[in-house]
Amino acid sequence: MKLDILAVAAHPDDAEICVGGTLLLAAARGKRVGIVDLTRGELGTRGSAQDRSRETAAANALLQPLLRANLALPDGRVEASTEARESLAALIREHQPEVLLAHHTEDLHPDHSTAGRIAREAWYLSGLARLAPAGDKPKRPARLYHFMGHVPFEPTLVVDIGEVWERKLELVRCYASQITPAAPGDRGEHFLFGADILQRVETRARFYGERIGVRYGEPLLARGPLPCFDPLIA
Ligand SMILES: [Zn+2]
Repeated sequence: MKLDILAVAAHPDDAEICVGGTLLLAAARGKRVGIVDLTRGELGTRGSAQDRSRETAAANALLQPLLRANLALPDGRVEASTEARESLAALIREHQPEVLLAHHTEDLHPDHSTAGRIAREAWYLSGLARLAPAGDKPKRPARLYHFMGHVPFEPTLVVDIGEVWERKLELVRCYASQITPAAPGDRGEHFLFGADILQRVETRARFYGERIGVRYGEPLLARGPLPCFDPLIA
């Protein structure tokens, strides 16, 4: 099944938190959207793997991606192995997306940075005709954009997600185990920044939205300059 956009995320909930608005917006414009999670998030401090797969199903019901795949790599131990990048390259060849969205390769969580690296390497490998098994069509997506995790970067572009903002929050709220306290003493705060996930999502969306003169935005980074064929409308 042909996709327009494929988001590659380390854990179920990363795609929704980082680019949920972009994906909702693309789907609303009739684009064929898919997500592949590299792990099941079984190592998360809050919630079991079962909780997280239930939550992913709820998020899928809202976003309705045409594909929600999982490579079932070990959570907390994601490695940019030949096997990992070739499985992702096979998925890219199978679904032929034009745009790949992936973690930035610099992030505090090693699974995130490694997932970004796996995506970048698979993006390249999927275009190599001789690496594809007979019958598989090579495909290197036209665009690879990195989304923002723990470490801020200066974005190449910011997507105006104002019209889907409330739905993005609904998507993130599907992951109740990640945004509600698990036990007495757990104040629902993010261990790194002392702010809960919903608060961080809003602060970031407001900040990057303001950078382009809108209320809510999601930052993306392209490697290298983007082509412009008409300097008058750049
Ligand atoms: Zn994650």
